[in-house]
Amino acid sequence: MHASHASPADRPEPVAVVLFTSDLRLHDHPPLRAATAEGRAVVPLFVRDPAVDRAGFAAPNRLAFLADCLTDLDEGLRERGGALVVRAGDTVAEVCAVVRATGADEVHLAAGCSAFARAREERLRRALAAEGCALRVHDAVITAVPPGEVTPQGSDHFAVFTPYLRRWAAEPLRAPLAAPRAVRLPEGLGESVPSAGLPRRAEVAGVSEGLATGGERAGRERLRRWLAGHCDTYEEGHDDLAGDVTSRLSPYLHFGAVSATEAVHRARGRGGAGAEAFVRQLCWRDFHHQVLAARPDASGADYRPRYRRWRHGPAAAADLRAWQAGRTGYPLVDAAMRQLAHEGWMHNRGRMVVASFLTKTLYIDWREGARHFLSLLVDGDIANNQLNWQWTAGTGTDTRPNRVLNPVRQGLRYDPDGAYVRRWVPELAGLGRPFVHEPWRLVGLERAAYADYPEPIVDLAEGLARFRAEQD
Ligand code: FAD
Repeated sequence: MHASHASPADRPEPVAVVLFTSDLRLHDHPPLRAATAEGRAVVPLFVRDPAVDRAGFAAPNRLAFLADCLTDLDEGLRERGGALVVRAGDTVAEVCAVVRATGADEVHLAAGCSAFARAREERLRRALAAEGCALRVHDAVITAVPPGEVTPQGSDHFAVFTPYLRRWAAEPLRAPLAAPRAVRLPEGLGESVPSAGLPRRAEVAGVSEGLATGGERAGRERLRRWLAGHCDTYEEGHDDLAGDVTSRLSPYLHFGAVSATEAVHRARGRGGAGAEAFVRQLCWRDFHHQVLAARPDASGADYRPRYRRWRHGPAAAADLRAWQAGRTGYPLVDAAMRQLAHEGWMHNRGRMVVASFLTKTLYIDWREGARHFLSLLVDGDIANNQLNWQWTAGTGTDTRPNRVLNPVRQGLRYDPDGAYVRRWVPELAGLGRPFVHEPWRLVGLERAAYADYPEPIVDLAEGLARFRAEQD
């Protein structure tokens, strides 16, 4: 026997695991970039964790979009010599199993913003330390500016948007990173790390008929075409419901198939008032993420308690059902709710109107509305959904918490000739302005022609009076 000295060729190759979460892309991906730049073999890993589903993720539209994103990511990795490893189970246990099987000494991960993501990160750090493996957490992967990066004096987050925007806009952003040219899997990965197999969109039941196709390629193509096509008219057109000129990038941003940092850079590179207005919306996204990161309880508790006495009981439950079904008798509200059911997505102006209607006219708790949205929205996320609901309900960061949106006036203003209503409410397809927004004003035989469409479930003036009384 003699002492053996491992030659460089025998030494185990350095392996890194890149754990994908809400960052399902190859372009502008700091964790993947860091792992490949060091010349390591890489295990691109995604874990289907039942705890994520239990935390409210598992809505059919998001599961279907996720399946598209994972398929696309896998294809992109295969074109570069790699592949996506998918495992099912507890994220921490699965990552540790992959680390052990491959001898990885580093795991790369995008920093999360939610309490759930941060608790997972902490558990992972401890478990990996016990394996002798380092955890490298990368900032500014999910948002353009990381939560906590800019703060007002004396607080850990901005509670008002405009001062946040000023500071956010002055922050230097990293230049977008190119996708890696090659991704090398470690030797023998096939046997040691069996993959659970990619979920398929076709296997998901209950998906909205008009759901968009997910994936980085679809997202990048949408960004490219939108910047070239609608960006210039975005500033004046973003509230035009029928015009539909917003980017519809929200699901791609939610799953990280498109990088927020890259979207900001590319819009700024294009320039103009439309691009600036679009970047401002991306800032709203970061704003809500930094609020949630500092106040994780805002996912369920009022950010600013206003002690609203929400309605409960059978009548309120019937109103909630009518709202969910798009049968409130208010055409703009119903059109928007039906768009949500059909596409798993709703125009922002529609979201504001239906949320105001539910919370300030029907006087139903914002949490009921947020829950219904999360059951359908393909872009549904805790930061943007819960905090926009709170904003509209007056319990959040709105500096004018008592404003109430009148669905008739909003309709006449943002859907002036009724094209949006006619598109989504076929019972009213024969009506023009102004009756398309106020069909109850029709009389006699004319009204009878629209008998399939419900009478308003609430009187707007009464709803407003109830709301005002609560403020006193
Ligand atoms: P664009 O107008 O093209 O804007 C570009 C991007 O900016 C969006 O993709 C989105 O990422 C971001 N953005 C725009 N407006 C907002 C906003 N108010 N808050 C935060 N980010 C914004 N957005 C979600 O991504 N997920 C949600 O679950 C969600 N729930 C909402 C619930 C309510 C009650 C309201 C009023 C708004 C909600 N929004 C949510 C915000 C907004 O309605 C959507 O982001 C937007 O409609 C998506 O369409 P778009 O991609 O065409 O937006």
